[in-house]
Amino acid sequence: MSATTAPISAVVVAAVEVEAGQRLLSPTFERWAEQAANCGHCARPIRLRGQATTFDRATGEVLSTYDSATEPDGVLYARCGNRRASVCPSCSHEYKGDMWHLLAAGAAGGMKGVPESVATHPLVFATLTAPSFGAVHGLRRRSGRPTMCRPRATSARCEHGQPLGCRTVHAEGDRLLGQPLCPQCYDYTGHVVWQWWAPELWRRFTIALRRVLAASLGLTQKEAHTLVRVSFAKVAEFQRRGVVHFHALIRLDGPPTESEEFPAPLVDVTVQRLCELVHVAASRVWFDAPATAPGEPLRRLRFGMQVDARAVTADAIRETGRADDPDAGLHPETVAAYIAKYATKACDDFGLPPRLRDPEAARRMGIAEHVCRLLAEVHHLARTGGVKYLALAKWVSMIGFRGHFSTKSRRYSTTLSRLRSARKRWTVERLRDRLTGPAPVDERGAIPPEPEVKVEDTTLVVSSWSLDGIGWLTAGDAALAATAAAQAREWADERAKRRRELLRG
Ligand SMILES: [Zn+2]
Ligand SMILES: [Zn+2]
Ligand SMILES: [Zn+2]
Repeated sequence: MSATTAPISAVVVAAVEVEAGQRLLSPTFERWAEQAANCGHCARPIRLRGQATTFDRATGEVLSTYDSATEPDGVLYARCGNRRASVCPSCSHEYKGDMWHLLAAGAAGGMKGVPESVATHPLVFATLTAPSFGAVHGLRRRSGRPTMCRPRATSARCEHGQPLGCRTVHAEGDRLLGQPLCPQCYDYTGHVVWQWWAPELWRRFTIALRRVLAASLGLTQKEAHTLVRVSFAKVAEFQRRGVVHFHALIRLDGPPTESEEFPAPLVDVTVQRLCELVHVAASRVWFDAPATAPGEPLRRLRFGMQVDARAVTADAIRETGRADDPDAGLHPETVAAYIAKYATKACDDFGLPPRLRDPEAARRMGIAEHVCRLLAEVHHLARTGGVKYLALAKWVSMIGFRGHFSTKSRRYSTTLSRLRSARKRWTVERLRDRLTGPAPVDERGAIPPEPEVKVEDTTLVVSSWSLDGIGWLTAGDAALAATAAAQAREWADERAKRRRELLRG
């Protein structure tokens, strides 16, 4: 709270400051702050009441007991675990970190139980986009420099009198980006139908790639399966025009054996060849969408023409990011960081609230007109499109995308649940440690980095919990947690950066 020269009675002190002050001055503040740190300064933690007892599995001896009644306000806080940054920046950040580890481990190997040798397997970074549903304003580049949006004679007009060209060089942040040149020409139904079936197109792509790979080796799929396996990790990203595209890491492995989970493929396929096969498979995939109205012409859905497939190799230059040169290789770390960035984005870019049902509400919130029209189309198809489109009603805030934002095939890398169980175990250990000694903190009072996965389990934890509620008890507590969270993320990013520099040097 800030000092002021105005008379106290004239100062309107915000309630949140009073609450934060009460918390700061309370005798149990230290423990409260420790709890807040333990749940990662989650924005809306789950409040639990209950007890846990830890036994030694072999002897049955009670190693420790824990009761939330001993905590400030009698509650234990647990993470909400929401991966959307707009809901909980802290949990979303944690998820992003997990995703990065998972993808980096699969691309570069040498961490989280994935051997270094996977780095020698053919690995491709592919981007599969949607086709065009009508011309939209965009950031165009020619040999790395920004250029005109749609250089055509501006005198040419569509049947609605809108110009077919745009000679503007748009800048980042321009509200026109992603908006159609003519909303009446734009195929809103086609857009939503494609988005609704995009997960099916992706599924068919994974099948097609395995098929063309076998054919290129002159083998049946069954024969190929005994020599080579295709693993995938993908994330879906929303483009400005409101349609998803897929970024995928595609790697070839051999069939796993008793001793090796990620052996090299038993056939010789170069990474360049794999890039070509990705192109072939993507161009062959199609799906005939069920009609949205009686007598409607058939809609054959495909990926767009702009399929990009690039080799991922350790000798490529790092941090080139989205380099314009489509033939340049990409470094595994660059790709993993890039792909993990999209794992948490969802629709946050459009400013859509998570449980939006009513497209009119979006319009009142000042959401871009193009997005509002898309939402209205999702709503419309859910009501009139028939049984195959009924469930669209649940996916309005995702503009009709029902797929997962990030998925991977079973063999791609370590799993999120393995990372999670390591973390859960650690939390339990910390609870136990707290009773026998102070919780470990580093010199800045932050939680030290987590230990590696320990699989052996000699203890048994018996616990019973009941839900007290969700969120911090007061707005003041929430404000304190949010401040600490922002700081903790800064430190974690700094640590990660330094770690990467060390690895590089
Ligand atoms: Zn959270
Ligand atoms: Zn334009
Ligand atoms: Zn038009």
